[in-house]
Amino acid sequence: MDYTLPEFLAHAIALEHEAAERYLELADMMEAHRNDEVSQLFRDMVRYSRMHHDSIVARAGAMELPELRPGQYRWRHPPEAGGEEAFDYSLNAYDALRYARENELRAMQYYSEVGQHATDEEVRRLAAEFAAEETEHVEALDDWLARTPRPSAPWHDDPHRGT
Ligand code: ZN
Repeated sequence: MDYTLPEFLAHAIALEHEAAERYLELADMMEAHRNDEVSQLFRDMVRYSRMHHDSIVARAGAMELPELRPGQYRWRHPPEAGGEEAFDYSLNAYDALRYARENELRAMQYYSEVGQHATDEEVRRLAAEFAAEETEHVEALDDWLARTPRPSAPWHDDPHRGT
């Protein structure tokens, strides 16, 4: 994948916007489950995603950005969710964290791949910087996962589940 700077910024903006929306849903869901700690974590993630989003928008400035196809930045849903719409089912805290981690990991891989392969020097620099941020998010979610009890019903198709 090679990106011009406007193409890359458009993806990054869409990706951060999507992350903020999904974290907001997860935060509300955890609140409904009365899991205030995990809800607070997701609210923090909403804030980080919005801050990151706003700083990328500022970086883009008056640049004209291309339109994107939705699938290129949308979060992937757990296998049992089906469809690409917002959540209409309940996740326990563990699965919500696992789900968020998977999507953060995907963002990290996306940024680091761009960082390695882009020919534009500024795209490479920014992508590497963003990849480092996503790595921190993945690590933060790993910490939470380590402290969150696993539900008894296994989340199928999850290769990381077994011990
Ligand atoms: Zn992130």
